[in-house]
Amino acid sequence: MSRQIHIGKLTLGGGAPVRVQSMTNTDTMDTRATVEQALRMVEAGCELVRITAPDVKAAENLGRIKEELLKHGCEVPLVADIHFNPKAAEVAATLVEKVRVNPGNYTDRNTGKLEFTEQEYNDELKRIGERMATLIDICKAHHTAMRIGTNHGSLSERIMSRYGNTPEGMAQSAIEFARVCEEQDYHDLVFSMKASNVKVMVDSTRLFVQKMHALGMDYPIHLGVTEAGDGMQGRLKSAAGIGALLLDGIGDTVRVSLTEDPEAEMPIAYDILQAVGARITQPEYIACPSCGRTQYDIQRALKEIKEKTRHLVGVKIGVMGCIVNGPGEMADADYGYVGSGHGKITLYKGKEIVKRDIDQKDAVDELVRFIESDHQ
Ligand code: SF4
Repeated sequence: MSRQIHIGKLTLGGGAPVRVQSMTNTDTMDTRATVEQALRMVEAGCELVRITAPDVKAAENLGRIKEELLKHGCEVPLVADIHFNPKAAEVAATLVEKVRVNPGNYTDRNTGKLEFTEQEYNDELKRIGERMATLIDICKAHHTAMRIGTNHGSLSERIMSRYGNTPEGMAQSAIEFARVCEEQDYHDLVFSMKASNVKVMVDSTRLFVQKMHALGMDYPIHLGVTEAGDGMQGRLKSAAGIGALLLDGIGDTVRVSLTEDPEAEMPIAYDILQAVGARITQPEYIACPSCGRTQYDIQRALKEIKEKTRHLVGVKIGVMGCIVNGPGEMADADYGYVGSGHGKITLYKGKEIVKRDIDQKDAVDELVRFIESDHQ
């Protein structure tokens, strides 16, 4: 299990629920639009709102955005997203609960240099440590957390010269920053390895976690597939990458990146968490695809059952086409709705029959009544 860190009042890692986060896509200087969007995201379930801070002015405006959110009674922690501008990070770290830096472009000088001698490589690393020290001091003084977020495709020339644009390079880049922070006794850290290629994202995250554990570190991990796109493809890419790692036991916070309004991301994030059992926020339905043995309208029944039981968080309900294979195959369902003849339904609690051969028209209401009476 990872260590637990605090981002404002929010706990992350160390057994806390896997947190769902997203990022605004408004102009950070447009306070009103950003606040309104952040409020919509929070309403949809977003627990951590990231906002880009490309320069010092934008970083300063995060303070105004924070104030406005508080005026609306919204205490959601904010994360400043920083690329290329250490000064913006230093300002933001005094105003919001977390800053995200990209080791590939935080302070590394990218000048087209393709080869580094051992001495040059180490000198550059020393320079990064010195620049990071300023940010780390500010973070410590303000209890600000930091995400060190490596992205495939924005690794520094120094890292590329040694490891190439590879999962190894991504993991090493983050490990270097982890070491710098540990040397300065700063531990409020989260790490991420992102890529638009699902395999690269999964491989680099696994590799990073392996290396981190080998060094005795246990920081929380942020998961996300970048540039996943929109629609079904964006959702499936996110589910494949995030889901694979959650099933490995890796991941303390997730961001589903869609080319859609950010509030559209939250339901997908919760669905992924539910699908892999990482965070249960809705009932679980185990329903067979039906076949020639089904003698009732299973599609209509499933739809109706879902509508009428959506408040029963964590309850597992089996909806099965036939009594021949249904009861055995609904596995660990708490309750079962199983076809048992023409338009007839038999209800189960676990493996026990509680009511036999009810007419389909009454069966859903019977099921809901039975489950509710059981949960009073
Ligand atoms: S449970 Fe019965 S109806 Fe459903 S797929 Fe299996 S055999 Fe067919």
